[in-house]
Amino acid sequence: MRVVVLVKHVPELLSQRALGEDGRTVRTSDDSALNEVDENAVEAALQLAGSSEGEVIAVTLGPSIAVDALRRTLAMGASRAVHATGDAFAGGDVVATARALAAAVRHLDGEAPVDVVLTGLAALDGLGSVIPSLVAAELGWPQLTVVEELTLEGQTLVGRRELDGATERWRAATPAVVSVTDSANDPRLPKMKDLLAARAAEITVLTHTDLGLADEEVGAAGSRTRVVEAAQRPEHPGPEIVTDDDGEGGVLLARYLLDNDLVGGAR
Ligand SMILES: Cc1cc2nc3c(=O)[nH]c(=O)nc-3n(C[C@H](O)[C@H](O)[C@H](O)COP(=O)(O)OP(=O)(O)OC[C@H]3O[C@@H](n4cnc5c(N)ncnc54)[C@H](O)[C@@H]3O)c2cc1C
Repeated sequence: MRVVVLVKHVPELLSQRALGEDGRTVRTSDDSALNEVDENAVEAALQLAGSSEGEVIAVTLGPSIAVDALRRTLAMGASRAVHATGDAFAGGDVVATARALAAAVRHLDGEAPVDVVLTGLAALDGLGSVIPSLVAAELGWPQLTVVEELTLEGQTLVGRRELDGATERWRAATPAVVSVTDSANDPRLPKMKDLLAARAAEITVLTHTDLGLADEEVGAAGSRTRVVEAAQRPEHPGPEIVTDDDGEGGVLLARYLLDNDLVGGAR
């Protein structure tokens, strides 16, 4: 089984994020990481390929520092990594991003058939949760989304989905696109020697022309939406601490709740 896993490089959840003059997120390698839930996709890919002596190829689309996400994936056990990158991709919306990722999958499929594309549930920065479906649509492949458990029966993928009060089991013939949740498995922790080996591993770099895409199909030029305005969220003023040093704590707290309309009723 030949499995492609799509992994995204995102700012660390707890990092201080900033917007550049162009309204885009400023990204630096020291406050960024592999999208956490994509580790579940990598784990699912490794288990799927492992059960059939297959191959896992990690693919990311992103700026040069996105290579960090690929190195983490290699350290977890992926056999190969592909980095789609270049200025032409900048400013791409979800449609342009999915087109480029699907082109990367087609590129790999041209070398040898790809059986499954695995993805995470959502990128924790964009939170679109649409890339898996859009990539499946671009490829014309069936999709199993929000999968809690993935198994292989012959050449058929079986995905368990948990809905409110119901469990569903879906089957899809390969090739197919599958997105997994963060409870699908427990991602393995790479060992130090694997992290070091991944640092030196060779990574295939592909531009949009390598993927057979024209300038007007990628990045801002290939997007159907554009960012009209982006504003930094004002800093949170922090908590107001009410002390009871002089016995006035209760009164101060009551006044705070009333002044901020946090309790109902007349004053
Ligand atoms: C108008 C517009 C302009 C934008 N401009 C920029 C920009 O200039 N720079 C920028 O960085 N972003 C930009 N974005 C955001 C970018 O389009 C999205 O981050 C990207 O399309 C992925 O969507 P998402 O983050 O919502 O992923 P989701 O749909 O939430 O991701 C689901 C899964 O898909 C896979 N996946 C998602 N993205 C990637 C990826 N890039 N590579 C590999 N796998 C992936 C992962 O497995 C992930 O778990 C822009 C978005 C819009 C709408």
